[in-house]
Amino acid sequence: MAITTCPDCKKRISDQVNVCPHCDAVLGELTEENLARIRQRRWSKRVYLAKNLTYLGMTLVIVGAIWWWMAGWRSPVPQGAVFLIALGFLGYLVSRGWLFWLRLKRNRP
Ligand SMILES: [Zn+2]
Repeated sequence: MAITTCPDCKKRISDQVNVCPHCDAVLGELTEENLARIRQRRWSKRVYLAKNLTYLGMTLVIVGAIWWWMAGWRSPVPQGAVFLIALGFLGYLVSRGWLFWLRLKRNRP
């Protein structure tokens, strides 16, 4: 086993692998197993991203709510707080929808 560099990302990889572990570049013959592994990895990355977006959305809503609270729950609600809550809520809904769609896709090979 020797070390070589990936032609795509130039990172050091083993010459035994068919797919670069850093960037998923295909280096040799692509077998069914490799293809399945690449799909699985991409799927996992998207789920990870969607989950982070969900947390980001929740955080924005909480920050917006704290802002409103610091303003004394007054009406009119500070515009910045409205913006944060709306953006966070929208981001949350979109990322939940994305997660749901990703899970549906996984159950269908
Ligand atoms: Zn690479």
